Amino acid sequence: MPSESIFSKIIKGEIPADIVYQDELVTAFKDINPQAPLHILIVPNKEIPSVNDITPEDEPALGRLFSVAAKVAREQGIAESGYRLLINTGRDGGQEVPHLHMHIFGGRPLGPMLLRRQ
Ligand code: AMP
Repeated sequence: MPSESIFSKIIKGEIPADIVYQDELVTAFKDINPQAPLHILIVPNKEIPSVNDITPEDEPALGRLFSVAAKVAREQGIAESGYRLLINTGRDGGQEVPHLHMHIFGGRPLGPMLLRRQ
């Protein structure tokens, strides 16, 4: 059996995390190494490795990622000031954990979308 991702272990409660929301499709928890005053990850409970592995049957969970992002943003007080949603994919995308996840960043002006090339 392939090994579980660290996020699957968080979803099952096998390792600790600061979970802010969980339902039958997705789980949201605080990033362990925050890059902004608010940095939360929302992950499908099903272990989809990356955007490249999405199938049509995953669409309900992926839609839920967005509705939970909006709910978390409201509850954390950043809906009005604004925030950024980000999904890294693969090597050039900088994906470190092979379990699809959406980052929510907020709590300060986030600057340009990408670092400019030198
Ligand atoms: P990515 O580079 O898009 O794959 O992002 C992976 C994110 O997962 C990083 O921001 C890490 O800080 C975060 N992360 C890794 N391990 C944990 C953990 N145990 N609990 C919470 N966040 C984690």
